[in-house]
Amino acid sequence: MTATLIDGKAFAATIRARVTQEVARVKAAGITPGLAVVLVGKDPASAVYVRNKGKQTVEVGMESFEHKLPADTPEADLLDLIAKLNADPAVHGILCQLPVPDHIDAEKVLAAIDPAKDVDGFHISNVGLLATGQKAMVPCTPLGCLMMLRDHHGSLSGLEAVVVGRSNIVGKPMAQLLLGDSCTVTVAHSRTRDIEAVVKRADIVVAAVGRPEMVTGDWLKPGATVIDVGINRIDAPEKGADKTRLVGDCHFDSCAEVAGAITPVPGGVGPMTIACLLANTLTACCRAHGLAEPEGLTA
Ligand code: NDP
Repeated sequence: MTATLIDGKAFAATIRARVTQEVARVKAAGITPGLAVVLVGKDPASAVYVRNKGKQTVEVGMESFEHKLPADTPEADLLDLIAKLNADPAVHGILCQLPVPDHIDAEKVLAAIDPAKDVDGFHISNVGLLATGQKAMVPCTPLGCLMMLRDHHGSLSGLEAVVVGRSNIVGKPMAQLLLGDSCTVTVAHSRTRDIEAVVKRADIVVAAVGRPEMVTGDWLKPGATVIDVGINRIDAPEKGADKTRLVGDCHFDSCAEVAGAITPVPGGVGPMTIACLLANTLTACCRAHGLAEPEGLTA
């Protein structure tokens, strides 16, 4: 491997340490930042995410409010809960864990969250603010990617960036953030022609596709920085029958031979996502109370 490893786990720890410091400052002013996480149903992966979020929220000194609702909760009851959290001054951030059960309209739920408390950055108001270069709540995963890129490169101005994937959660906000930092941005997707040639132009590649190991080393420009957002579980017969392992959207070994820097999976973007959720909650709290926002924790 010739690429520098961008250690998301270690970087996330430094972000959490900053957040912990800033939370202490806010608490000294008599305010405790609070994050409410709502989980509907018993999806095992979502339950693990919610548990981790709650644990890390408490570790940085914030208040964690967990609302676990049964899978058959009527949509109206969920919307009532969101309205109560919107009105609760102890709650500065609200996150509804997705996916929600089929009988609930996720768009409606996201639209019901007060944009000022929308720490996931999915509310249409925040999407619009980000797209027009204004102060927004920024989705956590792309924010984490941006922080790692800024940390590695310093200025991103003028760099060619290719984002592979155009989802509302990762690809599109990632492209907006890179544009905000003056990259020349291309967004590739499933209909892109000659995607390998497109990726080859990039100084920065952000892969958010959901296809195991799709981007290989021969797609890359030598020295490119690769941010692998993908989290894919694949069979791992080498570890034994029925064993699995996590891989990204980039083929790590071949990419690491050509790239200048690369994030691993696991241990890259994943830990940064929760760290940015905590950072967003702190930011929302500071904005709600007119306190100075900590530097370097927002876009
Ligand atoms: P989506 O399924 O919503 O979007 C995937 C995107 O990839 C789509 O825009 C799709 O294009 C594009 N795509 C699919 N196949 C190809 C292909 N063959 N060539 C080029 N583009 C393709 O996924 P998400 O954005 O939600 O997530 C992407 C990955 O990131 C997943 O592995 C997910 O698990 C992971 N993830 C990780 C997070 C973390 O914290 N690390 C957080 C969120 C997601 P089209 O629009 O044309 O269909």
